Amino acid sequence: MTIRALQQVIQSVPTSDGAGVKLRRSLGSQRGLYVDPFLMLDEFSTDNPDDYIAGFPAHPHRGFETVTYMLDGHLLHEDHLGNRGDLKSGGAQWMTAGRGIIHSEMPQQSAGRMRGFQLWVNLPANEKMKPAWYRDIEPEEIPQVTLADGGTAKVIAGALNVAGVETSGVITGITTDPLYLDVDLPNGAPFHHFMRDDYSAFIYLYEGALQVGAPGATRALKTRCAGVLSAGDQITVTADGGSARFLLIAGKPIKEPVVQYGPFVMNTREEVEQAVRDYQNGTLTT
Ligand code: FE
Repeated sequence: MTIRALQQVIQSVPTSDGAGVKLRRSLGSQRGLYVDPFLMLDEFSTDNPDDYIAGFPAHPHRGFETVTYMLDGHLLHEDHLGNRGDLKSGGAQWMTAGRGIIHSEMPQQSAGRMRGFQLWVNLPANEKMKPAWYRDIEPEEIPQVTLADGGTAKVIAGALNVAGVETSGVITGITTDPLYLDVDLPNGAPFHHFMRDDYSAFIYLYEGALQVGAPGATRALKTRCAGVLSAGDQITVTADGGSARFLLIAGKPIKEPVVQYGPFVMNTREEVEQAVRDYQNGTLTT
């Protein structure tokens, strides 16, 4: 048994995207700063509607998946296929851009507060051009598990085993086999998760403080940082000096070249240039 250590810390940095939405980006904040198969993680968190109300008007994607998870406020989604969804507080959306999607994501006011995350998950070469697909996951479809040593975990994707009982999220059949947990620990509580030792894994701590790693050899992870974990078949963390809220995200690495230009993520420069041409001449999605 190998307990995963905190191997690398990726601090989130303030940035803006879309039509001026203020957010914090950890993975994806610099070229090459990703954790295969996870390309980018954005956190939105504000009480000021001016920070987000202009939203993300119509824009394209090709070659990967986006996972949006809202803690507060909600997000209106519309795409070129005529799909329209309202992503509620506590809900998630799993979208496979595949060959191409053109959509808008418009945050809606809910007592001024807006808080959530968007994760970009890469697709392997043989799936980059598959048809676009998405699924809204209602808050009540996300199982919440009471943890053995205190605290709770929501299972957005993958499976969590607590005292021999396995709880799975509703998203299945994805090649990268993603795990996406939202964990809330009271002060001093440990959390353990057993998983394949060759999968990539990171923790994004959005509230509180956390010690990561084997007892006696822990490292502290600071708030609003992504902590990339070393290989190993066990994850052990402990809330330290207060409660802690974090995302635990893991998956099977794709191990292929990544060439990104804005919202297009392909394997080669030629494929990215093709995506740009397809978008410009109106054939991105056809
Ligand atoms: Fe988008």
